[in-house]
Formats: sequence, C-alpha cells, structure tokens
Amino acid sequence: MENQDRIIKMLAYEGRVSILCANTTSLVEKARKTHDLSPVATAAFGRALTITALMAVNMKQETDKITVQINGNGALGAIVITANNFPKLKGYVCNKIVDLPLKNGKLDVGGAVGKEGYLNVIKDIGLKAPYIGRAPLVSGEIAEDFASYFASSEQTNTAVNLGVLVDCNGVKSSGGYIVTPMPDATEEDLFILENRIKEAKPLSNMLSERKSLLEIAKDLTGDEHVQIIEENIMPLYECDCSKEKIEKGLMVLGKKELQDMINTQIKIETVCHFCNQKYVFTKEELERVLENIK
Ligand SMILES: [Zn+2]
Repeated sequence: MENQDRIIKMLAYEGRVSILCANTTSLVEKARKTHDLSPVATAAFGRALTITALMAVNMKQETDKITVQINGNGALGAIVITANNFPKLKGYVCNKIVDLPLKNGKLDVGGAVGKEGYLNVIKDIGLKAPYIGRAPLVSGEIAEDFASYFASSEQTNTAVNLGVLVDCNGVKSSGGYIVTPMPDATEEDLFILENRIKEAKPLSNMLSERKSLLEIAKDLTGDEHVQIIEENIMPLYECDCSKEKIEKGLMVLGKKELQDMINTQIKIETVCHFCNQKYVFTKEELERVLENIK
C-alpha cells in the first residue's frame, strides 16, 4: 500500500480554531507487523501512536522528545511510546496478543487498556527537568482519556478523535485529529463545532474512503475556507537502536553484574523492546564492555 501518512496543521473560522489532522495508516501497520499485534492491541497502540504523533509535532525544537505511557491495568498492560518532533515514533505494548470479544460489534479497546490507572506525558524540551503531566484514565478508549488530560493539564477544551480500522489482514486505515478553540473563539463557533463533530462519520471510515485531511477538516468544521498552516509532515514508525546503545545499557548494569554474566554464560542475547531486533554479545565483547566501565 502506498504511504499516505501525513499530518496537517490547519486553522478554521478565520483563525479562531486550530485543527491538527493525521493519517497514520502505514505507520500503525508497520508497528503491527513489528510487534505482531493482535487486532485489539493494534487498535489501542495505533490510537496511542496517533495522539503521540499529534502532540509531537506541536513541540518546538528538533531535539524535543515526548514519551507517553498509558497504564489502565487492563489485559494489554502498559503502552509506552516515545517520539521526537520529526515525528519519528517507537513504542511497545506489554501484552501484544490480547484478544477480547467484540463489544457492540467493535474492538473493545477500552476493555483491553482498562481504566484503573493513569496516562503520563513526559516532555523533554531541553529544560533542566522534563515536564511531566498526568491524568487519570476515563474509559481506556484513549481519545476520551487524552481530551480529559488536555482539559486538566493544559486547560484547553480540546476535541480528540482517534480511529484505527483493523482486521486479521492488517490495518485498513488509521488517523486522528485534535481540534482546539483559540482564545478568541466565539460561543457560536464552539456550538457549531461541537454539533458537527458529534454528527461526523467515524474518522477511520472517512480515511478509508480516501478523503484527504483537508476535506476531513472542512467536513468537521463546515468551513470551506480552512487554511493550511503546515502540510507534508510525515510521521514515521522507526527505532533508533544500535549495538552501541545496547552496550551503554549493559554498562549501566555495573561491573559486578557484568562479571557474573561473563562467568556464567557463553554469550548473552538482548532484544530491543521497541523493534524486537536481537543483539548478541559474546564473552569477549562483554569483557571489552567491562573494561570500559570506569
Ligand atoms: Zn530497536
């Protein structure tokens, strides 16, 4: 399938409402294949990847990083995703093979994620300490949980919609949007917007009908003059691990732990959580790592 993944920043109502809209179909399919995710795990992870990508493009600098952790104590366990502002994303789901019965004919994302817990947003934007935002989960459906997070942590009345259409053969479509009224939005703007969003078709359907992100924004707002601020942002699912990075991780274990490994094992194998790449270290390589610990 041709890669149509995009994020577009737009303004509607003459600049009184901001819209960030994403098509993440290819990146969520890549994540599904990388981790061999079940359909419900794909839907949950895909929604979480999409909201992380949308938040990542709102960061200012290239070196900024965002980490999202969602843990609702459901069968999926924790979902962890990190991204830079490119945005390049990577992440994992603790229990990727979870399969639950459909709920009202749909994948039971809320049931799989659970709602007895929190979502954490950690932004490293080059300050001394990272910004950490936290909000209790509302339903585990993810879009609703993030809308509640934006309301409580960032004091914005943001509409969030995330959708992933997936079956046993893979991801059919995936995307999301964040609609945020600016301070000068009128009561009427909000009233119209709220009703239009309520009545809009599910986003994953609009995407699978091959509607463009601009068309979707026009549909959502009813504004024919939606203005594009930035387009052609291409989100990617990609891991940046390397043997050197894993080696640094081994050094953190400390001399004693490493010496024990060398004494008891012929070689060690580690797997990157984010992409399942396997790394093998021989006894000799481990000894070299040990020597480099000061
Ligand atoms: Zn990796």
